[in-house]
Amino acid sequence: MKTIDVLIIGAGPAGLMAGAQIKNKSVILLDQSEKTSLKLLMSGAGQCNFTHEGDLKFFLEQYNGHKAFLKVAFKQFFNEDACAFFEKQGVATMVREDGKIFPKSMRAEDIKSALIHINERQGHQLHSGECVKDVQIVDGGFQIITSHGAYHATNLIGAFGGCSYPTTGSDGSLFQLFKGLGHTIMPLRPALSPVYTKPNALTGLQGLSFKDATVDCFRENQPVGSYNGDLLITHFGLSGPVVLDNSRFFRVGDQLRVQFGTVDRKSLEQYLIHLANTSGKLPIASAFKGLPYPKRLVEFLLDGSSIDKTKPISELSKKERHELLGFFCAYELLIDYVGGFNVAMATTGGVSVEELNRKTMASKIQEGLFFVGECVDIDGNTGGYNIQWALTSGAIAGREIDNLSQ
Ligand SMILES: Cc1cc2nc3c(=O)[nH]c(=O)nc-3n(C[C@H](O)[C@H](O)[C@H](O)COP(=O)(O)OP(=O)(O)OC[C@H]3O[C@@H](n4cnc5c(N)ncnc54)[C@H](O)[C@@H]3O)c2cc1C
Repeated sequence: MKTIDVLIIGAGPAGLMAGAQIKNKSVILLDQSEKTSLKLLMSGAGQCNFTHEGDLKFFLEQYNGHKAFLKVAFKQFFNEDACAFFEKQGVATMVREDGKIFPKSMRAEDIKSALIHINERQGHQLHSGECVKDVQIVDGGFQIITSHGAYHATNLIGAFGGCSYPTTGSDGSLFQLFKGLGHTIMPLRPALSPVYTKPNALTGLQGLSFKDATVDCFRENQPVGSYNGDLLITHFGLSGPVVLDNSRFFRVGDQLRVQFGTVDRKSLEQYLIHLANTSGKLPIASAFKGLPYPKRLVEFLLDGSSIDKTKPISELSKKERHELLGFFCAYELLIDYVGGFNVAMATTGGVSVEELNRKTMASKIQEGLFFVGECVDIDGNTGGYNIQWALTSGAIAGREIDNLSQ
């Protein structure tokens, strides 16, 4: 059995950042995937949106709760620290217009290489294709059984990710094991998922996107929430930040009412009435030309209505006008299915934050044990918040372990 100071399970951004901070101890990182950090490589469509320029107050609104815990963590390692870290490793970073931060090269590979290289420079070993099967508490630490052998480690960092995109290696198989060692695992559910809707009629609009759309959600006719953001229509339903970020609140059978863009019901009604009074002969089909709607959407919604689009707008009855307002500002869809772990970009749930020291990420249940990254019950919106959490928690745990006397 090999004896080391620190064993890190998982070489995603959280595990690699933890290793990067440990200078004075022997470290082995194990990852069951042959190609490690696959999710990091997929992030931001391969461009790696690793954080956002927002301030702390803004950041804390981007997660599914646990503000007090996150506040303490971000005070120790935040977005500017992440940027400074990568710049120091020779990876220039850049802020996009929308505040999202990427490597200037727009290559996730550069972020991964920087993290791997610093671990190598520190003399750490990375064993890819080695799966952790069991962990036992033993005198002075942990015995870790893997697909390739056994290790004794004084400190153990769980950085094994969530359950989404299981083909990347983050398959959630270790949650049960740590539950067995006394940790509470909050219910695991997909987050940042697209939704499959019915009727599936909108699929004719596949590829259309809308800035600042509004999606209202109703369950048994009661409002669940009203959400704003960019919307994308896909071949199966809806995606884009407004749907992904709020998918954790959606359930099968919920009704969604979609406003395509920023023009609300009242403004659209006033516009149509004004047009009827001033340009009454204008055919209804032309009435939407002065509005910020794509032609495809207008044609699609008018064709789907009961209204003869060739008739003059002055002849549009109140009932017909309301039908159009409903189509453009509250288009009704039912959720048939909320995307599962195979398409979710993150996982809600995981190791309870109540059992972690927010200053160190150390377990309050088992001395020497730490949890970082997505395996912890913290999940953020799209926009770089999940990788920032992985980097923050990894950095905090790594620094803490580096400072421990053995
Ligand atoms: C398609 C996609 C796009 C995304 N885009 C973004 C984005 O632009 N910005 C953003 O902030 N976030 C994004 N995310 C989320 C982000 O990638 C994750 O939150 C982040 O990678 C989590 O880091 P982690 O180190 O905690 O876990 P992971 O990156 O999941 O790494 C965990 C590692 O642990 C290993 N492991 C698991 N079990 C075992 C075991 N038993 N033995 C050994 N090894 C094990 C896995 O193989 C894996 O390599 C995206 C996710 C996806 C799927």
